[in-house]
Amino acid sequence: MISERIKNLSPYKTEVTPASVRLSSNEFPYDFPEEIKQKISEEVKKIPLNKYPDPTAEELKEVLSQFLGVSPQNMVLGNGSDELIYYLSIAIGEVYLPVYIPVPTFPMYEISAKVLGRPVISVPLEENFDINLEESLKRIDEEKPVLGYFAYPNNPTGNLFSRKKIEKIREKGVFCVIDEAYYNYSGESFIGEALERDDTVILRTLSKIGMASLRIGILVGKEEIVREIDKVRLPFNITYPSQVIAKVILKEGRDFLEEKIKEVIRERERMYSSMKEIDVVEVFPSRANFLLFRTPLPAREVYKRLLEKDVLVRDVSYMPGLSRCLRVSVGKPEENDKFLEALYESLKEV
Ligand code: PMP
Repeated sequence: MISERIKNLSPYKTEVTPASVRLSSNEFPYDFPEEIKQKISEEVKKIPLNKYPDPTAEELKEVLSQFLGVSPQNMVLGNGSDELIYYLSIAIGEVYLPVYIPVPTFPMYEISAKVLGRPVISVPLEENFDINLEESLKRIDEEKPVLGYFAYPNNPTGNLFSRKKIEKIREKGVFCVIDEAYYNYSGESFIGEALERDDTVILRTLSKIGMASLRIGILVGKEEIVREIDKVRLPFNITYPSQVIAKVILKEGRDFLEEKIKEVIRERERMYSSMKEIDVVEVFPSRANFLLFRTPLPAREVYKRLLEKDVLVRDVSYMPGLSRCLRVSVGKPEENDKFLEALYESLKEV
């Protein structure tokens, strides 16, 4: 018998519609160069496929430790940060105690809590997409959540919440998960606090910097916290191929990544300026690798018109406060040009 709790869940939505310009999942626009692919092939060939991977991914953690500037004892690795979000919803506070989530945001926070039957306190963001502190503190005083999720920058709105507001919420005894999935595009982090405090951890992922296929997420926190969360981790959750490939890329692909990340940021700003010039488009500033925008038409109509021109974006208009909004990921310059032209064409008669 399936539990009512699970029957009432909505599954996480992924976009599988075919299109030649796919700007719907905030992926990195570039695959790695041939010489890195070659090195990966050589290393993958050496994997004993009949053996389990290193259960603690020690070597990968060493390499990540160089990459992030934190020691391996301060990390838990997950099969994507999605898995780490589950672990946190399981491990932080008793499961009957509520989880605080400013919305709209990344849906996995709510899904993970609801899978466990945890009460969820969703507080709508202000019109500028920052946290509504007054309403949040009121709800926190009334309902006493023990865990809070903050996408920093937020998906799908693209902005960074005010740090002070997060701190005020934390002062109320809410354990803060700062999800820095888009850190490489914002440069802002709570990593220092995560290493010092008992009530803060951060999440990072390799998915937004070219390695979405590998499914590697990283939780960073104090050793005492990390040790506890690691007890929830499934054995061998990071596959052997993922460990091997991530090691090669993080050793050999750093310059490539740095250069392309800069390009994505430049392209984000170029897209923002171009979209701003279209009278009927309201585009919101972003610190991530995507842009949120609103038009006068129903979002589904804009989505369809773009798809007819072979451009796929994400319709996010079902989320609270985002009526008529869509989200577009920053792609390669030529993909962004195609999107901009398709958007212009789709709206020219509005
Ligand atoms: N957090 C945020 C804010 C995201 O937008 C995403 C992916 N869309 C994730 C986490 C999940 O990342 P991963 O691929 O590491 O599971």
